[in-house]
This record gives sequence, structure tokens and C-alpha cells, in this order.
Amino acid sequence: MTHLRNFLKEMKEKGEILTIKEKFSPKFQIPAIIQKLDGGPILLFKKVRGHKNRIVANVCGTRKRICHALKTNNENLYSTIFEAWEKPLQPKIVEDGPVKEVIEKPNLLKIPVLTHFEKDGGAYITSAIVSAKSPDDKIENVSIHRLQILDENHLAIRLVPRHLFKLWNLAKQEDRDLDIAISIGVHPTIHLAASSPLPFGINEFAVANALLENKLRLIQCHYVNANAVADAEIVLEGKMSTRKQTLEGSLVDITGTYDIQRQQPIIKIINTMHRENYIYQALLPSGSEHKLLMGLPREALIWRSVSNVVPTVKAVNLSTGGCGWLHAIISIEKQTQGDGKNAILAAFSAHPSLKHVIVVDSDINIYNPNEVEWAIATRFQADKDLIVVSNVRGSTLDPSADQESGTTTKMGIDATRPLAKPKEKFIKAQIPLDPETENFLQQLKT
Ligand code: MN
Repeated sequence: MTHLRNFLKEMKEKGEILTIKEKFSPKFQIPAIIQKLDGGPILLFKKVRGHKNRIVANVCGTRKRICHALKTNNENLYSTIFEAWEKPLQPKIVEDGPVKEVIEKPNLLKIPVLTHFEKDGGAYITSAIVSAKSPDDKIENVSIHRLQILDENHLAIRLVPRHLFKLWNLAKQEDRDLDIAISIGVHPTIHLAASSPLPFGINEFAVANALLENKLRLIQCHYVNANAVADAEIVLEGKMSTRKQTLEGSLVDITGTYDIQRQQPIIKIINTMHRENYIYQALLPSGSEHKLLMGLPREALIWRSVSNVVPTVKAVNLSTGGCGWLHAIISIEKQTQGDGKNAILAAFSAHPSLKHVIVVDSDINIYNPNEVEWAIATRFQADKDLIVVSNVRGSTLDPSADQESGTTTKMGIDATRPLAKPKEKFIKAQIPLDPETENFLQQLKT
């Protein structure tokens, strides 16, 4: 099923949900709890101070849950993503959907939107799926944007110069506002599709629909020319101004540091639809969910790019410590001296924001930072195995980079063992295990 609620039901059966019955405030209290339990279970807040509705958070907070949502496993995750990217399937537009249970005049202040960090500019909707169409209706784009609550019916949107920005510019050329639909509380596949770096013109709803085996349903909005998710918890219909801007921010982004303030467009919300007793979906900026949604599609691209230059790529990890965005750790089956460095170059070409790459042999578990550090300690020589490139385009989110131009210095560490030396010198020593000890150790674990 394609509902967020169905996914939550499946997760509950697997013991992946922690229900919190105590009453907490959406300002700082709930964000503090989400942050403390980051990378853990889905959190369902049953009571929210000052609000009637429940809050769910950390839905896509682990690889395991994202794999479950995509009906795949870690080994086949990237190929599942590629298949959907390559074979998008246009979803059906239906007349009615669960989100139409209540249709009312907008009041954004009634929604339990979180205020996350100390110096954030205010309450921010961070999990919203924003969809819009080109003036000729031929292109539909779906993306995730942070939305700052300004008052009862106005939002500020951070518009990075990508696809929605392009559509906004097309509307601007015709001297009109851009119609948009904002869907909140949706199945994880829609979040993953909306986070995917697809070419302009590919409809991310169609990618989500491919992942959902053609079960995604959209509805046409009442007052704007845009499609929304029929079984979302909340849909906001809005017009993004091409004239009115406001100072947006600041807000903590994926790096866990405050992004700068900028003049950004204002959205006027003109209609709201929601399920009765809707669940508001929250997402903590810089939390593991944010990193996974941003990082997983890029991992897939890196995996494909590195696979073109070395025979076997075992795994790719845009690590949590590297903000799920700036650091890649890649394990390969090294065949020829130089494979490690070729892998570094291929990784940089696949993800322009990438800053540091570490390549290790396939015996290293790239999800364990200690093992990665051990590989650097025992297999890496800085004068031979290091690549440094200055003044290249990187991420403007990195406070140590030039945040205006986005230029940065990149570094690649080839921590694969040198083939010229005997393999035995680099192998991690093992203690032999007899069945008796192994049995005992198993019991210790459980
Ligand atoms: Mn797009």
C-alpha cells in the first residue's frame, strides 16, 4: 500500500516504532527527543502541547527501513533505485482520496510544525513534497524544500537553483505566480524519489510510482493547477510569488551548522486538505533521516560511476560523520595497482558536492569508522596514496568552503593495500574459534 499509515502499521509489527505518550512541545522539546534517538526507531508523539494532532518522526531514519519501503535489501538497493529512475511510470490521477476528508481554509499555525534549533528563524516544515508543472503542463517536478512558517497562510521557501527554480522562472517570464501543491505525510518511496538527482523533465512522482508498483494515486488540486498525493496526511495548495520575497532562515542544514539567510520567494496558501486526525510528519534537519534521503541516491550514482573504472565495488557509504553528503567511503576488490585512485576520481565525478573520499579493500566494513581508520593506519602512505585537488566546485553547505562560489579543496585517500607487498602483511589476525567458544559467544550476544 502507498499510505504513510500502512507503512507505519508494517513498521509497528516489526517493532520499529516507539510511541511516546507524554505531552511535549513542538518547539525544541520534540526536536531534542528526535535528536537524542537519532538513527533509532520511528517516533510517534501521541500528544503535542498546544495541538490536537500527532507527530511522526524519523520514518526514513535507517537503511533497513528504506530498504523495506522499497521492497529490497542493502545488496540490491542501488539497482532497485536505478530501475525506477530508468523506467518511471506515470501515476493515475483520481477524483477522490483520503486527504480530501477535510477541506478547509488554511491556518498553518494549527499544524504542529517543529521549531528545531536554538537560532532557527522559526517553525519549519521540513518533510514536504512540493510539486509543480511547467506552463504548458508537459513537465511535472517533485522536490523537497524547507518551508518557513511566516503566518496563518504564508510560507517562505528555500529555492536552490534546480528544477523547481526553473519552473518558477518560467512562470516569472509569463508574469504570473507558480501554482504548487505541498503534500505532507507520505510513503518513504515518495521522499526517496523526490530526493533523487534526476534530469529536468523526469517526473519524480512517476519514479515513486515505479517503486510503488503502479499504486501511487494523485489528485488534482481544487484551486491551483498542480497534482498532490491522494493519500497524503495533509495537502496545502499554494501560489509561489514571483514578485514577493522575504529574508528566509536561518536554519540548520545537513551539516548540522546554520545555513545563511537569503531573500527567498513567499508562498501564499489558499486551501488546505487533510485527513481527519492527520499525523504531521516531521524531519529533523541534519538527522540521520535527512542524511539518508539526500545521500542514498548519490551513493547509487557513485557506485555506478566507480563500477565503470574498477571491476568490483563492494559497497559505498556516504558516512554519517561526513554529513551523509561530503564524505564517501568505498570498498573495492582491488585488481591492479592504481584502482584505488581511479575509484577516487570516479567518485568525485559522480557527486560534485563530495569533498573527501576514502577507498578501502573489501575486507573492511565501511559502516564501522574504526575499521576504516584502521585501514588508513595500516595501509596508507600519504606521499603515495593521497590526492589533493584545490579550487574545485563543492558544496556551499560546508562552512569551511567558499560559500559564495562553492569552491573547495578535495582530498582522496587510497587506503587499499599495495599489491607490491605480500598480502599476509595486511591481513587482520584472527583467533581460531571452536564450536564451544562460538556457542558461548553467541549466547553473550543475545
Ligand atoms: Mn526534478
